[in-house]
Amino acid sequence: MEGDRMEVGNLKQNPNNLVNVHVEVHVKSQSTAKQSDVRTHVMALLNRHSMVFGNYKWSEFDEDFLSKHVASVAIVDSERQPMDLKNCSLSIYIFTLNDDGPSMLSLEEEEELSAANHWLLPAAEFHGIWESLVYENGVKKQLLDYVSTTLFFSDKNVDSNLIAWNRVVLLHGPPGTGKTSLCKALSQKLSIRLSNRYSYGQFVEINSHSLFSKWFSESGKLVTKMFQKIQQLIDDKEALVFVLIDEVESLTAARTASQAGTEPSDAIRVVNSVLTQLDQIKRHPNVVILTTSNVTEKIDLAFVDRADIKQYIGPPSEQGIYNIYLSCLEELMKCQIVYPRQQLFTVFELETMGFAESEVSVHSLVLWRLALKSKGLSGRVLRKLPFLAHALFVKTPIVTLESFLEAMDQAVDKQMEEKKDMVNCV
Ligand code: ADP
Repeated sequence: MEGDRMEVGNLKQNPNNLVNVHVEVHVKSQSTAKQSDVRTHVMALLNRHSMVFGNYKWSEFDEDFLSKHVASVAIVDSERQPMDLKNCSLSIYIFTLNDDGPSMLSLEEEEELSAANHWLLPAAEFHGIWESLVYENGVKKQLLDYVSTTLFFSDKNVDSNLIAWNRVVLLHGPPGTGKTSLCKALSQKLSIRLSNRYSYGQFVEINSHSLFSKWFSESGKLVTKMFQKIQQLIDDKEALVFVLIDEVESLTAARTASQAGTEPSDAIRVVNSVLTQLDQIKRHPNVVILTTSNVTEKIDLAFVDRADIKQYIGPPSEQGIYNIYLSCLEELMKCQIVYPRQQLFTVFELETMGFAESEVSVHSLVLWRLALKSKGLSGRVLRKLPFLAHALFVKTPIVTLESFLEAMDQAVDKQMEEKKDMVNCV
């Protein structure tokens, strides 16, 4: 996997003040086509369709080369506005996906460490996550810009004693808001964007929870071993290494329990060992440490201080909920489970129409009211809702949009009831 010639950090540079357009070219894994040929054909395609309106994806082509070698060409992460590609600066990223799936990080011949999973990036499993996550106010773009700048500064050896910055990101907020997914998506995105600088990406996921499972807390030595393995990955300067530490609050919990004497002091040794090791690996310019936490107050202060980029991730707004539902319904119509296909408007289109009731907008408005009613549900619950609606409230395998929306409405009521019960239990 290689990218177009572009220096790290050029993501934001734009010498002629032209709009910078990012084009991701997904080459089929069995293809043996040369990069330069792919590029020529993609340029020709873009020339043929020079006017686009924001993001756009081609997955079917009217010429043989692209049909044979390329799975998709996508204009990504752009503003929703008409763009004349002839007057834009194009950044073309050409990549193939690794479809090996996760592997466990093996420590010794016969010993596999279940506390860490490991992927080669860009990974087939992470494909599409970035697009599926819906957040407000350019959260995704901001994070991407932050981490890109961080890597740019590292690459240029900026002295972090003079300008304070580091490569530790903390995403915090309620459970099910997509924090882990966002870490994966961000890593995938960066491995594609920076493919000219690093020839591949590594993603190591450490689950703090399993780190403190009984077996593991027996010895801090395993932490050291695990980080030695990570260090080996980092030693390849061609690799961009992402280390995700999920649910860092487990570290704090272990520390507090240890201080209270309810947990062996081993636990605190493990926590300290993790923190020391993190400090070691974060010195390397090709490392990004991503952490998530479901609570903010409880996170170990030692941890919060280490993170430069702290981002709160909350449940989606009404607009966000509408977009999530819309993508679910589009999928169900594509699979012909909701049939026949009906037009649903985007929030933007509804707003432009002033939410006016008409024959064409009727289903979209029902969906909008459903979104309003679903406020407070997490992204995880929202993405599960269409499944629950079908399983519990639809009587036939194939269903009209109108009936499906009614079923969704019932499913939302059920979720809200459950949420209330949960609160009452606490
Ligand atoms: P967390 O780490 O915050 O607990 P996860 O990353 O495990 O959350 O999210 C679980 C699932 O919920 C994701 O796979 C995703 O499908 C869905 N999800 C959560 N938040 C969102 C969101 N804002 N937009 C779209 N999907 C979301």
